[in-house]
Amino acid sequence: MSEEVKIEKQDDLCGGLEFNSTSDIEVPTKLIDQVIGQEHAVEVIKKAANQRRHVMMIGTPGTGKSMLAKAMAELLPKEELQDVLIYHNPEDGNNPKVRVVPAGKGKQIVNAHKMEAQKSSQMRNLIIVFAMLGILVFAFVYLREQFMWAIIAVLLLLLLLRYVTPKETVITPKLLVTNQGKTTAPFIDATGAHAGALLGDVRHDPFQSGGLETPAHDRVEAGAIHKAHKGVLFIDEINTLRMESQQHLLTALQEKKFHITGQSERSSGAMVKTDPVPCDFIMVLAGNLDAKEGMHPALRSRIKGYGYELYMTDSMEDNPENRRKLVRFVAQEVMRDGKIPHFDHSAVDEIIREARRRAGRKGHLTLKLRDLGGLVRVSGDIARSEGAALTTADHVLKAKKISRSVEQQLADTYLDQRRDYRLFKAAGEEVGRVNGLAVIGGDSGIVLPIVAEVTPALSKAEGHVYATGKLKSIAKESVQNVSAIIKKFTGYDISSMDVHIQFVGAYEGVEGDSASVSIATAVISALSQIPIDQTVAMTGSLSVRGEVLPIGGVTYKIEAAALAGIKTVLIPKSNVGDVLIEEVYKDKVKIIPVTNISEVLEYALVGKMKESFLDKIRNFSMDKMGIGIFD
Ligand code: ADP
Repeated sequence: MSEEVKIEKQDDLCGGLEFNSTSDIEVPTKLIDQVIGQEHAVEVIKKAANQRRHVMMIGTPGTGKSMLAKAMAELLPKEELQDVLIYHNPEDGNNPKVRVVPAGKGKQIVNAHKMEAQKSSQMRNLIIVFAMLGILVFAFVYLREQFMWAIIAVLLLLLLLRYVTPKETVITPKLLVTNQGKTTAPFIDATGAHAGALLGDVRHDPFQSGGLETPAHDRVEAGAIHKAHKGVLFIDEINTLRMESQQHLLTALQEKKFHITGQSERSSGAMVKTDPVPCDFIMVLAGNLDAKEGMHPALRSRIKGYGYELYMTDSMEDNPENRRKLVRFVAQEVMRDGKIPHFDHSAVDEIIREARRRAGRKGHLTLKLRDLGGLVRVSGDIARSEGAALTTADHVLKAKKISRSVEQQLADTYLDQRRDYRLFKAAGEEVGRVNGLAVIGGDSGIVLPIVAEVTPALSKAEGHVYATGKLKSIAKESVQNVSAIIKKFTGYDISSMDVHIQFVGAYEGVEGDSASVSIATAVISALSQIPIDQTVAMTGSLSVRGEVLPIGGVTYKIEAAALAGIKTVLIPKSNVGDVLIEEVYKDKVKIIPVTNISEVLEYALVGKMKESFLDKIRNFSMDKMGIGIFD
């Protein structure tokens, strides 16, 4: 029999770091030095910034992709930054001209033009005053019939107008992109940008003529690619970008300049096309693993050929050094938020404990740090609302209760509903019914009862597996996988029987690949008519040889079982290290690691027939294979 798993509380969670609160922890000034746990990515980003290479980052959301892109912008030289001006083209108003000047100069030029324009408008006003005066003089002398003087007055007026009128009206250029006063190269996030926002656009002019029109150059708007000139253009979820836009992006990458034109066909802006506007940016693309699919092959190959591809890890090893990094992470997040109180030692301990739980993997800490940062903020908010000087473990524990994911909340209501309808059974015994365990949304467990019934096959030729609920295909596969074991343990060849399996109340989103141990147990019980202890729940994947293989989400599953009132949970032995359940559940459930299906049956089955059945299993040898032990 396996030993029950005992969960100890560990003391030194902060890797030996001495501090009273996170205000004692030094936070690096450079963003790149603040990145935690992605050492390989940091190295690559530094190299890519140095060599001006493009980067694609693939990985789970919230692991620091945009943070790294921002950090990359900080590493780029700011001396190279430029401003871009766009001028009216007197020869062709629809083809505005582009001028590039050093950063900060653009504003000066525009101001100078504005001054000049002001001067010329003052001059115009002066002329109007003179002209009025001239007309008055003319009228006066004309009325007095001094024609000679009248003619002289007209001539003088014409002469004045000839020399004083400004040669041409001054049209101020537009400052399209400015980097004035910037301390770092631009970081432009173009995630989800439509074509206009990405590539630039020309606004529609509702008047278009009659002196009320806005000159074309004034309606030109820079796109993200232009604003990112000499900096970083970041695009997350690259696969959501339209193919056409990706193609244009590729052109922009190659040419390092891209003209701006109106993006909507029927707008007056569509007639306008500027000279090419510089867009010499470094592209950083990001996405999930499936992002590659929606990507233009040429764009991908461009990165492969001229850049780096990076995979972001979502957990790091649980060692003192990395735990110290997480302490710094808490300090960073508090500093970044700016409003919440610093964390005391106990609160940081609690965050690290949660980082362990969320890793869902033995000896690891999660690197899904956006979510963990969310917990830091909610904890801090609670501390602040209570007027506390420091955030304590108590606040973190409260925050964990409040900030449950949608899936967790769903699991809660699901539990309530099932209790209401008595779908749950956490007491007594029943033939063919197992309390299975499943996860939804990756971080919420639920108890998923599985009921099996075995009947002689309807069809003479062969039996069928009938499964109801959303996990039909998994059930069928599991039954097929376990049929050898069932045959071995029960002597029954289920391929000649109809096996009915029901996942009670399973719904969309339930991940059931770890249900095969439960399915096998339910089927064996239904075949042998030996009841199953309903205070037991189980999880595990079954090999065709009857070994119980590791599964994911073990912590969440055990917690869900405890919440549902289950007393014993059977888990795969290889998952023991992953068990990081919260204090409150520790005394509620017994956790028993198992290595093979016969151990599962030892714990799960009850009743008079159990012992003789188990004896048969224990004594069972391969040469008896195929002989029904219930004959
Ligand atoms: P992604 O782009 O991968 O979805 P982000 O870079 O937007 O994730 O991360 C969001 C926030 O989470 C960051 O601003 C930072 O506060 C925190 N964060 C995420 N990953 C890390 C990391 N590796 N190191 C430090 N902080 C991180």
